[in-house]
Amino acid sequence: EYHNIINFGAGPAKIPREVLEEIKGELLSFNNTGMSITELSHRSKEYMEINQQTQELLRQLLNIPANYSVLFVAGGGQGQFAAIPLNLIGRTGTADYLVTGIWSRIAAEEAKNHGNINIAVDSQDEHSIPDPKTWKLNSNASYVYYCDNDTIQGVEFPFTPETNGVPLVADMSSNFLTKRIDVSKFGVIFAASQKNLGTAGIAVVIIRNDLLGEAQKHCPNVLNYTLLSKYTSIYNTPPIFSVYILGKILQWVKKEGGLDRMESLSRHKSQLIYEYIDQTEGFYNIFANKPVRSKINICIRIGNSTGDADLEEKFIQEAELHNMYQLRGHHLVKGIRISLFNSITIKEVKTLLKFMIEFEAKHR
Ligand code: PMP
Repeated sequence: EYHNIINFGAGPAKIPREVLEEIKGELLSFNNTGMSITELSHRSKEYMEINQQTQELLRQLLNIPANYSVLFVAGGGQGQFAAIPLNLIGRTGTADYLVTGIWSRIAAEEAKNHGNINIAVDSQDEHSIPDPKTWKLNSNASYVYYCDNDTIQGVEFPFTPETNGVPLVADMSSNFLTKRIDVSKFGVIFAASQKNLGTAGIAVVIIRNDLLGEAQKHCPNVLNYTLLSKYTSIYNTPPIFSVYILGKILQWVKKEGGLDRMESLSRHKSQLIYEYIDQTEGFYNIFANKPVRSKINICIRIGNSTGDADLEEKFIQEAELHNMYQLRGHHLVKGIRISLFNSITIKEVKTLLKFMIEFEAKHR
């Protein structure tokens, strides 16, 4: 039995066991059809209902205003790195990017294929977010792009950027549904599905309707937000299973108490780890500067601030002996990464914490 395994992966990530059990229970026959959900037509009554109900549940949970569309777009997070400029940059041909981590860097590089990209701030390896007064925003930009939580370096924005009326585009792939957000402050919010939203395959895109209708001529139809909106995200065959699992996850979030509950749990879980680490005087070292520490991805080096690779390997091996998996840091930055998505319980965090304390006592 695998009940005791704790999965701290950054994505694909843990799905609540009760959700997996429910999926297992209806996998062979969905709603008495005698067919699996993955075998049903995307134009079947069953799938159309899932598609609609999942969009409605998202609207409810996030309190999304009526003048926004909710889309499911195949191609994951990086699909949107291309789709954003393809759909939005046409108005002025130029866009501002806040490069505060690796994911916003990659997004900016992709966007350069589709227009003029102004890097308004570059703090990729500083693990901080420079004072907005120093940002070089361009009032003629079609949009301002940023990544709300950098999954690789564990840096999270503690505020929503102010853009003086220029539409704000947020990559919330790793912290979507972990807190309340005021959707009306954004032009577009997107999130890949494999972290807090179930399994890989789609990105959820929330877009203000007045930004539709501007796609560039060479934008592929499957990435065209205007077309997807017109067809309620059933333009071509969507990744049905990913949308189906997203629906189950949203029901789970609602049942657990919604975003207020997710936000307080998220704060509590990350505080447990950070407060302990701050007492270890350099045995565990956090990448991120204090005001921008991520509540979702805690990225650390062990032994010293640049990391003792042998000790980190030992940490990963010993953690696995204690049934804790997927703690290895991203290959670009190495070290250890503890991901605390909604599915991770306080009890699981306390189990990790106990292990970290014992590991420190043994190896410091
Ligand atoms: N943005 C962020 C913040 C991410 O963490 C990731 C993936 N880890 C991506 C974008 C890219 O997502 P995908 O792998 O689905 O393209």
